[in-house]
Parts: sequence; C-alpha cells; structure tokens
Amino acid sequence: MAATDTTIEAGTEAEADLGAQYRIVEAVVTRAVRISPSLMRITFGGEQLREGLRSGGRDQSLTIFFPRPGEDIPLVPLEFDEGWYGRWRALPLGRRAIMRSYTVRSQDPVSRELDVDFVLHGEHGSAPSGPAAAWAADAAPGDRVMLLGPALAANRSIAFLPPPDATRIILAADETALPAVGGILEALPAGTPVQAWVEVPDVGDLQQIATAADAEVAWLVRQPGGRPGTAVAEAVRAAMPDVDDLAYVWIAGEAGLVRTLRRHFVRDLGLDRSRVAFTGYWRLGATEEQLRTEREAGAGR
Ligand SMILES: Cc1cc2nc3c(=O)[nH]c(=O)nc-3n(C[C@H](O)[C@H](O)[C@H](O)COP(=O)(O)OP(=O)(O)OC[C@H]3O[C@@H](n4cnc5c(N)ncnc54)[C@H](O)[C@@H]3O)c2cc1C
Repeated sequence: MAATDTTIEAGTEAEADLGAQYRIVEAVVTRAVRISPSLMRITFGGEQLREGLRSGGRDQSLTIFFPRPGEDIPLVPLEFDEGWYGRWRALPLGRRAIMRSYTVRSQDPVSRELDVDFVLHGEHGSAPSGPAAAWAADAAPGDRVMLLGPALAANRSIAFLPPPDATRIILAADETALPAVGGILEALPAGTPVQAWVEVPDVGDLQQIATAADAEVAWLVRQPGGRPGTAVAEAVRAAMPDVDDLAYVWIAGEAGLVRTLRRHFVRDLGLDRSRVAFTGYWRLGATEEQLRTEREAGAGR
C-alpha cells in the first residue's frame, strides 16, 4: 500500500532509535465534537500524554489502540522497543487492542492536548464502518485509549519533507488526509506557493484553514456512491498536464488515488521520485489489519 509508510512499524530500519523517538501512553478523551458531517474531532489529554508526547506538526502520524468491546482500557505491551511488535502479536487475538493509524491535527503548546479528526465512514453511502470510526462516533469525555506516538518533535512519522529548493508545493488528499493538509498548510512559511486538492464526502466538510502560505485550495465534493478518491485524481490530472521539475508533491488518502497520482507525476510527467511523497491511508474493502498482514507477507518474501 504505502511506500512511504509513516506509521510506526517495529521491525524496520527505524528500530535503532525507536525507544528514544516514541512512547506508549494512556490518553483520556477530554472533548468530542462533531466538526462537520463526516468528521469527529476528539481531543486527548491526561498526565502521561502531557509528559510523553510531542508532535512535530505537518502530517505527524501516530498509532491509536482502542479497547475491545466490554473492556475499559486497551491491552497493549507498554514498553516500546524493537521487541514490541512481537509482544503485541503474541497477545491473544481476541484480547489485544485494535490498532489504527491517525494524524495529529494539532497539539496545544501549553496543555499538550492533542486533536485527532476521525472520519465517520460508514455513516454515508455504502462503505462499512470499522472499529475506529465506530469508537469515535460514540466517544465521550473520560474514555481511554493508548497512543503510540512521538516523544520528540523530530521523528520519522512525518512524510511531508519538501527539499529546500522546492519552488511549489502540490497537495492531493481525500477526507482522511484533510487533517494532515490542515497541519501542513498551517506549518508552511509565508508566501510559499501551494496548490491543494481535497476531496470530501459532503459539502459541509469544507474547512477554513489558516495559512501564511500563498495557497489555493480546490475542494471536490464526492458524488453520492462515487468511488473515494476518483474526483481528486481526475481533477489533479486535468489541472496538471505538466509540472515544474522543482515542485514537491504530497499525496495521501485511499490507495487507488495515491497510486494513480503517483504514477501521473513520476511516470507520466517525469518528476523525480524523491519529490513525490505518497502514503496510502486506507484501501477500499480492506481493514487496517488486512493491510498490515499484506505488508508483512510482502516484507517476508
Ligand atoms: C499515516 C496515516 C494517517 C491517517 N490519518 C487519518 C486521520 O487523521 N483521520 C482519519 O479518519 N483516518 C486517517 N487514516 C486512515 C485510517 O487509519 C483508516 O481509515 C482506518 O482504516 C480506519 O479504521 P476503521 O477501524 O474505522 O476501519 P477498518 O476496520 O480499518 O476498515 C473497515 C472497512 O472500512 C473501510 N474504510 C476504512 N476507512 C475508510 C474511510 N475513511 N472511508 C470509507 N471506508 C473506509 C475499509 O476499506 C474496510 O472495508 C490514516 C491512515 C494512515 C496510514
């Protein structure tokens, strides 16, 4: 699915400094607000989070562990090192926590509370809901999760890394990557030329994002029953029949959208692959467990 996989994977070359870069902390829901038809903003706080996690901004990702039905707190090995993933896998399947990847939309510099925007898929159209979206839909203050996230603002779970000579930034995203687009636009220096395309399920999901960059954001509202990502992929291809060699492209969202646009920029337009950051955030018809299992099988071949 993603060549630039920014989720935290034990068993990769990042192992050497995993313990220093990441922490597993308990987090408590302090607020749950439906910010738009498809998005629920959950604010996480708590002592361990305040002491332990530091977001680097932009598209900072983290891993959230949700409790199983009937459990209060998710079951996760607490010490994060190179053996962590093996210990997690060794827990009984029906007991170990449900693991999902999300983006830090923002972190309050004083309270250190984190906002995460969850897409409530399954409420619109045909796609089934999953445990993370269902958890977010019902979340209330006091609910607890475990977070595996960055202990240092400089960490490897940020994919948006434009080279210093980038003349223009191009962003393409669906609604799962809208939080990342928000974080990126807020972080960019004044005057940076940006063209962004964001596809959302509902016109009510359009957002005002504060940015000092010189940004043009094109919003695409999916047709009912439309395949996620198709509208944004078509719009970007139509708008960009060529591209500046020094542009930097960042693509995230449903796997088909990511594949189509990466191919467009790298193969069809000849942009150097180091200038195209791409991350599949989900795939239509597959749960995150299925995607992880596929990746592990691929890595073992
Ligand atoms: C680095 C990274 C950052 C991410 N950041 C965010 C974020 O900030 N906000 C966010 O909402 N998501 C984000 N995602 C995507 C999120 O992890 C997936 O959507 C995840 O599958 C949701 O888990 P679930 O338990 O709800 O569904 P799963 O159990 O994983 O999947 C159940 C079914 O729902 C489908 N499905 C999953 N997601 C969607 C969707 N969005 N729309 C329609 N159908 C879907 C699946 O294809 C499957 O058929 C991110 C993913 C990555 C890798």
